[in-house]
Amino acid sequence: MSAPKKKVVIVPCSGIGKSFGTVAREAGYDLIEDLRPEQTRLVALSKLVMGDEEAKNIVAAHPAIAIDGCKLNCAAKMVRESGGRIAREVAVQEVFRRHKALKPEGIAELNPAGQSLARVLAEELTPLVDALTSADSTEDRHA
Ligand code: SF4
Repeated sequence: MSAPKKKVVIVPCSGIGKSFGTVAREAGYDLIEDLRPEQTRLVALSKLVMGDEEAKNIVAAHPAIAIDGCKLNCAAKMVRESGGRIAREVAVQEVFRRHKALKPEGIAELNPAGQSLARVLAEELTPLVDALTSADSTEDRHA
């Protein structure tokens, strides 16, 4: 019998109107839909902002990865305010600085470079997701 699967909550910022915010959201979707669908779960920032009880309970019960599109760090702040535990907060700019060729443009629809940046960001997070959800992972100590 296998133990219940551990989950990591992914909270991208809502970043409406900003390409970097759209990259944050796309990276979240890449993780939950393609890269680690069994181990991750998306919680919408808007639900936390509205104080949605179910969203708050999910965030309180699992380690969270916050992905933010600018230095206001809305996702990371809301996770903390909602009683969540941040395992990692990532800024899209930080990843872009290392991948300058992938300049995101577009908002409703990202350009191919922006989509690639989102993918790179998501892929960089997979080792952490694996570590947090492995059978013998211990409590995160960065809180
Ligand atoms: S972190 Fe920046 S881009 Fe994202 S929702 Fe907040 S203000 Fe918008």
